[in-house]
Amino acid sequence: CQRLSSTKISAIPGDGIGPEVFQSVVDIFDATQAPVIWDVIKLSTKMEGKDPISPEEIEKVRANKVGLKGPTTTPIGGGHVSMNVFLRRELTLYANVRPCVSVPGVKTLYDDVNLVTIRENTEGEYSGKEHEVVPGVIENLKIVSEKACLRVAKYAFEYAAKYGRKKVSAFHKASVMKMGDGLFLKKTREVGKDYPMIGYEERNVDTACGMLVANPHLFDVMVMPNLYGDIVSDVCAGLIGGLGLTPSGNIGENNAIFEAVHGSAPDIAGKNLANPTALLLSSIMMLRHLNLFDHADKIEKAVHGVLKDGVTKTRDLGGSATTTEYTKAIISRL
Ligand code: NAD
Repeated sequence: CQRLSSTKISAIPGDGIGPEVFQSVVDIFDATQAPVIWDVIKLSTKMEGKDPISPEEIEKVRANKVGLKGPTTTPIGGGHVSMNVFLRRELTLYANVRPCVSVPGVKTLYDDVNLVTIRENTEGEYSGKEHEVVPGVIENLKIVSEKACLRVAKYAFEYAAKYGRKKVSAFHKASVMKMGDGLFLKKTREVGKDYPMIGYEERNVDTACGMLVANPHLFDVMVMPNLYGDIVSDVCAGLIGGLGLTPSGNIGENNAIFEAVHGSAPDIAGKNLANPTALLLSSIMMLRHLNLFDHADKIEKAVHGVLKDGVTKTRDLGGSATTTEYTKAIISRL
């Protein structure tokens, strides 16, 4: 019965520390009997100039709808395109969601941060359209479309409603980019009218960054164009202790891929030293996306419990536990 009602999840363990941290998630899911079946996706990253996933495998990812991805190395100066860019493009993953919640036992300036950055993921400053107009002059196009603004704004308000959040703040620079950021604001405002129970405000992105570091409690859910989201989400990660503790989700109309924000950490790969917390927190986000709240809460409580105890911590957090020891400590708390 358990298997019949299980959801098939695309599993992309990645490389470097990817398989080690992914194994930790699989072991913890097994221990809680989370109703998921892992469908391991084969990568073709070794083939020069090819897409990192074959057409057959990407069809599997599309059909499974939800996936969990470990970090993947992006080759420099040749090789395949970045896996993240490829997946975002193929599956139109238009919203990047990064919750930054204080982790018990990890000492930072503020101990009760609870912020969510929702970043437009497909256009804006990262549309990749740049060219040399005349020698020495580059034109870099920032594309802002009504369609992309509307769907990311709608996702932000839907997210706020689903998770009982109180306010959505739109970050912009419409005082300078009157048409582009102006359109982003106009559409977000329009969507906000359909959610009268959720507060709405608009802030210049530079002012908002200052406010965030001075008092992160001023914000709740924040929605913004691509480049601002890239920067603001790292500011928020810094507030809770860094990228190693930050989960993320890439959401599209039909697909969602969850992943840790850190990279493949080649310096510690294969040494059983990696901290799996970020991928674990991403897998908890994935469970909530699937409405498996009980399993998500149970795993989150166990992870927070182990971190708060501070006895079994990986090396990056000042401890000496291996990935396996840390995983076992979480399992024993479930
Ligand atoms: P990185 O995040 O891999 O490593 C930076 C530092 O943080 C290293 O010292 C590493 O040991 C440490 N670190 C990272 N994750 C850790 C963890 N879970 N536990 C303990 N320590 C951890 O960044 P990098 O070295 O700049 O990138 C390495 C490769 O990863 C590159 O090829 C890059 O393109 C790729 N990358 C992939 C993703 C992704 O797949 N989402 C994201 C970022 C970078």
